[in-house]
Amino acid sequence: MATPLRLLLVEDAEIDANLVLHELEKGGFELQYALVSTERDVRDQLTRFQWDLVISDYSMPGFNGIQCLAILHELDLDIPFILVSGTVGEELAVDAMKTGAHDYVMKGRLHRLVPAIRRELREVSIRRDRKQFMEHLEFLAYHDPITRLPNQQYFIEEVDTHLRKCAHAGKAAVLVSIEIERFNEIRAITQPADLNALINRIIDRIRSHSRSPNSFARINDQSLALLYASTQGLPHEEMGKTLTALFEEPFSLDPILVHIDVAIGIAVFPEHGEDAHQLLRNATIAANLARSKHRDYALYSSKDDRTSPENAALLGELRDAIRQDKLVLHYQPIIEIAGNGVTGVEALVRWNHPTRGLLPPGMFLEAAEHSNLIIPLTRWVANAASQQWKKWHGAGLNIYISINLSIRNIQNPGFISDLDTLLEDADINPHKMVFEITESGIMTDSEVALEVLKYIHSKGCGIAIDDFGAGQSSFAYLKVLPVDIIKIDRMFISNIVTDVHDAAIVTSILDFAKRMNKKVIAEGVETSGTLDVLRKLGCGFAQGYYISKPLDPEPMTQWLKGRPGANA
Ligand code: C2E
Ligand code: CA
Ligand code: CA
Repeated sequence: MATPLRLLLVEDAEIDANLVLHELEKGGFELQYALVSTERDVRDQLTRFQWDLVISDYSMPGFNGIQCLAILHELDLDIPFILVSGTVGEELAVDAMKTGAHDYVMKGRLHRLVPAIRRELREVSIRRDRKQFMEHLEFLAYHDPITRLPNQQYFIEEVDTHLRKCAHAGKAAVLVSIEIERFNEIRAITQPADLNALINRIIDRIRSHSRSPNSFARINDQSLALLYASTQGLPHEEMGKTLTALFEEPFSLDPILVHIDVAIGIAVFPEHGEDAHQLLRNATIAANLARSKHRDYALYSSKDDRTSPENAALLGELRDAIRQDKLVLHYQPIIEIAGNGVTGVEALVRWNHPTRGLLPPGMFLEAAEHSNLIIPLTRWVANAASQQWKKWHGAGLNIYISINLSIRNIQNPGFISDLDTLLEDADINPHKMVFEITESGIMTDSEVALEVLKYIHSKGCGIAIDDFGAGQSSFAYLKVLPVDIIKIDRMFISNIVTDVHDAAIVTSILDFAKRMNKKVIAEGVETSGTLDVLRKLGCGFAQGYYISKPLDPEPMTQWLKGRPGANA
């Protein structure tokens, strides 16, 4: 089969040209060619058309082969170039090769031409493959292959360039981070090709329905980032809403529809960061905040940022407070509704801050949870609570003590040995200890968490689900996890007297708990009316301000001594 070949033949003598053409046709090429002999024509042909090969005579009137080669170089064309000449001497030919000609063939030895061409065509194709591959590698170094959007590295460079311009021109800039929720779950249930299609659809929707960003990147699997720069102010409220609205409609992934939830975080230049790194980091922190507060979007704020200098100082102080016993525990009783007797107390931590007074857990727990400080903090709480339990036990008060754990605690394999040490050192009856874990804590699918829970249970300690109903409730996990107690969140309890929906929810939780053989504590009981309704509904236990606010150990001891049940 003939090999198609697009040949630019640079030759002034028609007879020589014909010899070359004849040789090539004989050698199995199907030619498409142009015959030229001036610099202008060469330039014209090379810029307007694509050529597989250039064969050039050495000397022509007003033009020569070396000049022809120079044009190729100038136009940055990698096309095999073969010099064919009768006049060129060996030396000139070697020079031509040095300047980049791929071969030279004497007019009297044209039989060499075809093998030379075949060899050069092979080589150029290898060179081009290699070049394409290098370009691909370079592309991958700076882009996400699925969406072809810039990757994080490229985005950072691009954004830094934009920010420099913004600073110069007095423009505002806003960096938005869009985090796709439950990406791993989506990944687990979709084919890779479908997942890629879905991501591209998300990108398309963002592109077509929102103002066009100055820069748009895929930072990692589940996060996208956009930079907007503008001379007019950039209303982030509106931006957050517009972007959120884009995800209201599901995405079609034939034949199913997929709902995508996103958490959107916004950071403003220069208030929230002076360079791309800081802005991106802070927009991501804001997105995490939006997620944890169940909001669609959030603007960055340093007080929510656990690594901001303010919080870093707070953590330092808290570390010292734990070491120096500056934490205190307040205790809140839990009663059995039917007999009014106390069954247990919950230990609630406070921080006795030297200048700010007694700080509630809301002021420092989140920061502790996001750092490793929650580990020593919990150790401190468990120790202090056990000591207190021993005192009460010695005074004949038969109650259990309930200790709050954070997700971090049950994801920490070290918790197991901490618990062993505690039970040995404090000499507390494990059946008189309950650990409270929030739903989100219990739902984390980590194997360590499950191990830890099972271990707690195997030691005889109780496990309570805290704030039940407040998170992403799922009755399903209660069937598989070693849970003894359900604490219904106070948002369902506080209006139970007047709100029929809340009453219905509580009824169904009670119903379920009964079937599953779990105890139920209603949290946040603030009035006698609430307690009455709970009694009628058959709720077993209650806790709340109506019964007692959390108290210091001393007043709590007095309170306990005056109640039935506790003395049993
Ligand atoms: P929680 O475990 O749900 O604790 C109950 C919270 O509700 C306590 O707030 C308590 O003072 C409050 N409360 C009790 N009864 C009522 C009521 O009738 N009405 C109202 N409005 N509130 C009531 P506190 O002490 O500020 O603790 C807040 C949260 O901090 C706790 O919520 C718990 O999640 C966490 N926490 C407290 N101590 C610890 C601890 O040692 N470790 C861990 N990981 N978390 C703790
Ligand atoms: Ca609790
Ligand atoms: Ca609670």
